[in-house]
Amino acid sequence: MFPFSPIHAASARPSDSDLSVLFFNKSHSCISDLSHLATDPTALPEQASQLGLSDKNRAVLTTASDGNGHFILAQCPEQPSAHAYRQLGASIYYALKPTSFNEVAIIWPDLTVEKSLEKSDCMHICQGFYGAGYQFATHLSDKPEILVRELTHVVQQRQVLMRQFDYAEAIVLGQHVTKDLMHEPPNVLTPDNFAKRIQKMTSLGLQVDVMDEAQLKAENMHALLSVGQGSSQPSRLVTIRWCGHSADCADPLALVGKGVCFDSGGINIKLSQLTDMKYDMGGAASIVGAMHAMARLKVPTNVVGIVALVENMPGGNAYRPSDIIGSRAGKSIEVLNTDAEGRLILADAIDYACDLKPRAIVDLATLTGAVIVGLGHEYAGLFCNQDALTDNIKRAAKDGGEKLWQLPLDPAYDRMMDSTIADVSNLSAPGSGAGSITAAQFLQRFARDIPWAHIDIAGTAWISAHNGVHAKGATGYGVATLVELAKQY
Ligand SMILES: [Zn+2]
Repeated sequence: MFPFSPIHAASARPSDSDLSVLFFNKSHSCISDLSHLATDPTALPEQASQLGLSDKNRAVLTTASDGNGHFILAQCPEQPSAHAYRQLGASIYYALKPTSFNEVAIIWPDLTVEKSLEKSDCMHICQGFYGAGYQFATHLSDKPEILVRELTHVVQQRQVLMRQFDYAEAIVLGQHVTKDLMHEPPNVLTPDNFAKRIQKMTSLGLQVDVMDEAQLKAENMHALLSVGQGSSQPSRLVTIRWCGHSADCADPLALVGKGVCFDSGGINIKLSQLTDMKYDMGGAASIVGAMHAMARLKVPTNVVGIVALVENMPGGNAYRPSDIIGSRAGKSIEVLNTDAEGRLILADAIDYACDLKPRAIVDLATLTGAVIVGLGHEYAGLFCNQDALTDNIKRAAKDGGEKLWQLPLDPAYDRMMDSTIADVSNLSAPGSGAGSITAAQFLQRFARDIPWAHIDIAGTAWISAHNGVHAKGATGYGVATLVELAKQY
């Protein structure tokens, strides 16, 4: 549930507001437009320094003695970045959360006078603020009571900043869609249930097509079907269209997502961390969340999302290590390990995307543990076969406030995926290393000559401890970057 009333802005502070949020720059001077307060709050800067506002203590609650009421004082980051502004926004929410103040006014600086905040910084503060209120309570008998606050943005540049606030809200609501999907347990969120949830998004203007197993067979998606055949839950492939530029959705940006609703590893069953494997549909969830936001924002771009939904289980009909399976592209694949399943379902989904003649394909997947070895939980791994697309994605991630780092593709790595008895194998030889890169090389073989990028979000889609912006669990990573990318096309 969104803990705020519909966003609105006013050029004056509402008389009934019982709490105001004020911003301070890194030299502890108040930069909010103080003309909105009843009297000049001269004591505030002193209070701010007494309360120890700093990069570590970003937002504190205080009460003014001069009749101006209650405040949250918020300290702008010493090293500004989209991520730091989001942390600031989240800190403001955490200062507000335990209170019962219901009428809240955020008093923004007059941006024509005060240069220490850009309008995009205000947007990121809002994203952190709105996003920090997320909680997954679907399966709790005693639902936590959520106080829905009346929030007023007090701004001089109403037109300009309202657009930023609306944008922040759309991104956060898209991230909530992603988080809700990821937190659902795998006995609830089966591939079919996932597909049905996406179908409900047609009310936003998205067109949704679901392929069942008969249709997947007719499409020759043998790699995808092989992964799902060990489960009693049937596989699905869902196509989501946002035709923001033209009704025929021609020349789209194609987004492909890995949706393994539960990954046991299959016959190569995992020995640990099985309880985290409900999150292995994080790529698909990010794409669904991003398309939710694009539809809400009416992004003027044609975008097609393709999500491959399976469960990887070791049932009696499961595919085996050493099987040779087919694929939609016509390539035979030697299965060396059934736990390297994400790339198999993506191979068919990427080949399907190629037939749509997209301008570019971007796939998101919780693909490899190796990307966590290299980059931890801070950066996602980016792989791309075209410089222009690489630049676009890097810019989108920077504007979206999500960290990613480019890793190489190289023919030498590609050869590591050769098989002597099939066209390609699904794993390189044991001990050869570069597991994230060889996974990307495998995918590249199915992208034909279309500009294509792969983002490995295994380390960033969910986290095991609070990171200052997101609570433990799903982060919604990818939503902001994909929406920024769609805006560029
Ligand atoms: Zn796996």
